[in-house]
Order: sequence, then C-alpha cells, then structure tokens
Amino acid sequence: MSLNTPHALPSYLSKHELGPWGTYLEQVERVTPYLGHLAKWVETLKRPKRSLIVDIPVELDNGTIAHFEGYRVQHNTSRGPGKGGVRFHQDVTLSEVMALAAWMSIKTAAVNLPFGGAKGGIRINPHNHSRGELERITRRYTSEIGVIIGPNKDIPAPDVNTNAQTMAWMMDTYSMNEGATTTGVVTGKPISLGGSLGRVEATGRGVFVVGCEAARDQGINIEGARVVVQGFGNVGGTAARLFQEAGAKVIAVQDHTACLHNSNGLDVLSLLKHAEEHGGIAGTPNAEAISHDDFWALETELLIPAALEGQITARNAPTIRARIVIEGANGPTTPEADDILAANGTLVVPDVLANAGGVTVSYFEWVQDFSSFYWTEAEINHRLEAMMRSAYASVASVAREHGVSQRTAAFITGCSRILEAREVRGLYP
Ligand code: NAD
Repeated sequence: MSLNTPHALPSYLSKHELGPWGTYLEQVERVTPYLGHLAKWVETLKRPKRSLIVDIPVELDNGTIAHFEGYRVQHNTSRGPGKGGVRFHQDVTLSEVMALAAWMSIKTAAVNLPFGGAKGGIRINPHNHSRGELERITRRYTSEIGVIIGPNKDIPAPDVNTNAQTMAWMMDTYSMNEGATTTGVVTGKPISLGGSLGRVEATGRGVFVVGCEAARDQGINIEGARVVVQGFGNVGGTAARLFQEAGAKVIAVQDHTACLHNSNGLDVLSLLKHAEEHGGIAGTPNAEAISHDDFWALETELLIPAALEGQITARNAPTIRARIVIEGANGPTTPEADDILAANGTLVVPDVLANAGGVTVSYFEWVQDFSSFYWTEAEINHRLEAMMRSAYASVASVAREHGVSQRTAAFITGCSRILEAREVRGLYP
C-alpha cells in the first residue's frame, strides 16, 4: 500500500490521523489492478474534491456562547451532485467524514445513481442539547455550508442522530437564504415537505431484494429458507418482515436487549410490536433466549447483520454457518472476517450494494421534488426493486468475470464508473 507516496495523503491529515480514510485508501489500492486504462485516473479517488470545515457559534439556552466544528466533504462529483448524510456525533472527525463521503461515491456509482459522494457532520453530542439549541446549530451549520450545497450541487440527508426534522430545518434555512422554497436541497424530509413515500422502509426492502437475488444465484429457494437477523430497527425489522412475507423462516433475531431463537420460525410481527412497546425484543413470547455465541453459530441460509459496524470479526467468523451474508449495516464485517467467510464458502453481499436502497429512494425523492410530481408507494417500490436487481446483476457479473468477491466487484464497478466519467469530462482547464 502506497500511503507513503506524497500523492495519497492530503497535507491536512498526518499519517496518524488517517483512521477510516486509511481503510478507504487501502480498498482503492486493492481494486486498482482491475481498473485497466482507467488506473491512470485513480489518484482522483484518493483525494476529496472539496473539504469544508466550518465554525458554528450559537447562543445556548443559558445565555452562554458555544462553538462547534462542522464539516461537509464532497468526495467526488464527476457523475452528478454530491449525495450523503449529515451526522451529529461527538467523535466525528474530518478523516471519518472524508471516508464516509468516499464510500457514498462508490455506493452511488455501484448502483448507477446519477450522484457523486458527499458527507457532513458536526462534532456534538446532540443528547446534551435542547431542541431549540439543536435547531439553531443545524440552521447555522446549513448557512455556513450553504456555499457548496444545493439541489444541483450537493444534497444532504439524515444520518446518525439526525432525522426528518433536521432535514426540514436545513431545507427551510437554505430556502430562506436563497429567497425561494427549495425542497430538493435535502432528502429524507417529512412527507409534508416533499419527502418520498417508501423512504422509511427503503433500505430494508433493498436488503430483501438483493437477498432474494443472491439466494437465487446460490440455488436457494426463499420459501422455507432460514433467515437470521442482527439489529431489529429500521433496516433489520423491515428486512425480516419482508422475508417472512415471502415465505422464509426467520429463526433468530438479535437486538441490543436479547438474542431470540425459534427453529420453527419467530413471529416477526409480534417481535416488531413487542420491540415498539418495550424498546427491544427481550421478553417476546414463543421464543427462546440464546447466547451471542450461539446466535452467530446458527445454521442458516441467510444471515443479515443490520445493527452496527464491526460485528463479524475474526473471532466469530469461523463459527458462522450461513450460505449468504447480506450486509444491511455499514461495515459490519472486518477484512479478516471477510477472508474467513470466503474461505468457508459463504457469499457476502457487501454494504455498498446491499444497503443502497435508502439512497436509491433518496434519489427518487430528489427527482419528485424537481418535477413537483409525486409517485405512489407502489411505484416507488417497483422502481426500487428494478434498480436493486439490476445493481446486483452487474456486481455479480463483475465478480464472476474477475473471480473476486462481490465487495471487490462493487468497488471495481463503482470506481470504474467514476473514473470513466472523469476521463470523458477531461481536466479543466
Ligand atoms: P436503528 O437505530 O433503527 O436500528 C438499530 C438496531 O440495532 C436496533 O434494533 C438496535 O437494538 C440494534 N443494536 C444496537 N446495538 C446493538 C448491539 N450492540 N448488538 C445487537 N444489536 C444492536 O438503525 P437502522 O437505521 O436500522 O440502521 C442499522 C444499520 O444500517 C446501521 O449500520 C446504518 O448505518 C445502516 N444503514 C441504515 C440505512 C437507513 O436507511 N436506515 C441506510 C444505509 C445503512
């Protein structure tokens, strides 16, 4: 890996501050040999197009003034405007935002959406602030990054600790500064402000669609197939319900409160109701509580990590007896675990493909905002399914052609599309 070369490292990051950006650079190094003549342009992927650091001064409820640091990074916009969430977290760093922006470039290109990749964040613990303070912080941040965002430039969306309300404040602030209501500047908005039907379930539905495609590839019939799901929130809960509706047997679910198992199949709707009423699945009837170790070692056709990053590691990967892992979460499998799963013949459908349903429906939201013409939920789901199927087919075909994992194939597909655009656009001036 050539991190020592002067070109790989932006001057504002020391080698010790690389963090997730270092991981991303290593992934690009790994796919470079597969990029053919486009490898000439690969340096483009190793530097963000724009990185903006902003100061956010606000008056707190107690009358004192606080300053927060905010970021917006546009990693690449060769194929279209930047797209990516805004994260509120006390540990957010520029390096992390750069890596998340770069992974958005790969994801939008791998799924063939006409977007680049971007990401934003504020170094703040939102749980320490009132709603009024969060609104003022969000509005000042939006105003500060207003010079580089816009419906044709860069379109933020919710991420960790931000939601539809945050997007409504961002949309309003941008619109006030522009002097015109501009719904298309953010996605993930409330439906009443031009949000899209189907957005809430989109990521879980995408996981379900690529899961069905991968199962078909492996000669597995979804009807009667066993499914194990870690994380029972927006992504995991939706995916579990859709698999059950399709005739699969969800035999185990894990959330932060429990691991539950029933070899005849859990009742997903009861689990969802229980989790909503009690804040977790622990205590749902007709299910046996099992240990974390037993959960990971269950024999199953499909295993869906949909909770956090770094859940499948060198420690539990050797015990996994799943035919297919579908990554609902971002980064749930460590590189060492990836190698172990591959050696044991488990197919891994990578996050940049498997959880791209959310950004795909964000794309639909943006298109609807532009045309001011809103689609039905059935139309949204139909188009989402078509795009996810086609994305799966193209990644699976590249994987077969080069004899590589679907993760490497998704990177080859994404990087090639970005660099093709770079090449035909040429350099200005
Ligand atoms: P969520 O908050 O709705 O649900 C998270 C679930 O994970 C909950 O059931 C929680 O109990 C469980 N969980 C938390 N800590 C856990 C632990 N230590 N062990 C086991 N389970 C634990 O979140 P979500 O929106 O479903 O997101 C899940 C993952 O999917 C995240 O990695 C997220 O980045 C990724 N993702 C989400 C979207 C989206 O549209 N929501 C899009 C792309 C990727």
